Amino acid sequence: CGIVGYVGGQSALDVVIAGLRRLEYRGYDSAGVAVLADGGLAAAKKAGKLANLEKELLERPLPSGQTGLGHTRWATHGAPNDANAHPHLDNSGRVAVVHNGIIENFAALRAELAERGHALSSQTDTEVTAHLLAESYSACGDLAEAMRQVCRRLDGAFTLVAVAADDPDVVVGARRNSPLVVGVGEGENFLASDVAAFIAHTREAIELGQDQVVELRRDGVRVTDFDGVPADVRTYHVDWDASA
Ligand code: GLU
Repeated sequence: CGIVGYVGGQSALDVVIAGLRRLEYRGYDSAGVAVLADGGLAAAKKAGKLANLEKELLERPLPSGQTGLGHTRWATHGAPNDANAHPHLDNSGRVAVVHNGIIENFAALRAELAERGHALSSQTDTEVTAHLLAESYSACGDLAEAMRQVCRRLDGAFTLVAVAADDPDVVVGARRNSPLVVGVGEGENFLASDVAAFIAHTREAIELGQDQVVELRRDGVRVTDFDGVPADVRTYHVDWDASA
C-alpha cells in the first residue's frame, strides 16, 4: 500500500513514520519499519493503524539510525496480523524487505526455499523475496545486484524496497507494474510509492521506469534495468501544493 525508504543524515525512523503518515489516507491494515543501526537491523511491525506501531515504538524504542524503510500493508495473501505485517526479514534477520503488489509465483518459490532449509514465518507472498534477496546478497555481496537477480525470478506486480545490515549506507528499490519514486535531496535521498511521502523534504523527483532497480546512497542514485544495464535518469520538479 504505502512504502517509504530513506538514507541520509536525519533519523530514518522519523522520516519514515512522517512519510507513512502522508500516505495514510489510502487506508491499510498494518504498519512496520526497519532501521539500520549499530551494525544491525532493528524492525517493528504492528497490525492496525500507524498509531499502534507508534505506541509499540514508545514502549520498545528502536536504536536510532540514518537508513531505513517502512510500509503500510493492504493484505492480499495472509491475514492482517502482526506476523504478516511488513517488513519481512530473512532467517539471519539481516535483510529486510517491504512490498506492494502480488508475487504470483510465490508458492513455487516458497517450496524451493523450504527445500533449501529456509524457515518461513508468515503467510504472505512477500516473504519469499526477503529470503531470496539474502541468498543472492550473500553470494554476490552487492544488494542492488542481488535485487536484480531476485526480480528476474518474480512474476506479478511489485514495488520492492530493501535494506541489509551489512551495507548500512544503501537502500535498494525495484518496480514492475507498481509505482516507485525517488526523492532527490542534498546529502539524503528518499524512496516512496508516492511523492507525498517526501514532499516536505524535497521536490526533486525521479520516476522509476518499468522493470528498473535503483540503488540509493546519501550522495547518489543509480538506476539500471533488471539486467544491470544503466538507465537514463530524468529529474523532474514536483510543483503541486504540499498542503493539499
Ligand atoms: N501482497 C502483499 C501482502 O499481502 C503486499 C500487499 C500490499 O500491497 O500492501 O502482504
